[in-house]
Amino acid sequence: MSNFINLKGQKFNKLLVIDIHDKNINGTIRYLCKCDCGGNTIVQSSKLRNGWTKSCGCLQKEITSKRGLRHNLCNHKLYHVLACMKDRCSNPNNSRYNNYGNRGISVCEEWRNDFKCFYDWAIANGYKEGLHIDRINNDGNYEPSNCRFISFKENMNNTTRNVWIEIDGIKKTAAQWGEETNINGIAIAQRVRNGKIGVDAIYGIKYKNKCLKK
Ligand SMILES: [Zn+2]
Repeated sequence: MSNFINLKGQKFNKLLVIDIHDKNINGTIRYLCKCDCGGNTIVQSSKLRNGWTKSCGCLQKEITSKRGLRHNLCNHKLYHVLACMKDRCSNPNNSRYNNYGNRGISVCEEWRNDFKCFYDWAIANGYKEGLHIDRINNDGNYEPSNCRFISFKENMNNTTRNVWIEIDGIKKTAAQWGEETNINGIAIAQRVRNGKIGVDAIYGIKYKNKCLKK
């Protein structure tokens, strides 16, 4: 008992030692401790001193739930939405980089650095599964003031409306050329994105030798 130091009054992480609770025949002392969260717990002296036990158990719960939240968010479809957005704006090897990063389109800093920030904005702005993120101004960035969620169909309409093709001085959108030629406007827009111009953009390989009515 001579080298025994009473830990009463000492603080170990979140635990304040209130008093000795009991002592077994091997000399192991257990203390009654009060946790920062208000809970009480009984902890062995050695576990307090070596940091094995840091709280009444609330700390572990907190960590687990935070990890759970982060994990759930990473599995969220929006996580993928943001990742793809960042990639097409910053990775020259992305097949869509030409229309995004290469045109100076970027993802705003808050979203780029903090998925939770993008997630909160998306939920508050009507995101539902199946909707696509759309830039209101096609030359603007991915940022709260320039983005909204729209359906795939609306998205495709926008896409085809924003793609212009000029043939013999007549300029029309992919959607308009599509209507006129009975060719899928989305396919036309896609060909433009792949670098085709003029008649080649309207007609795929399979129509290569057909004439275009004006
Ligand atoms: Zn606690």
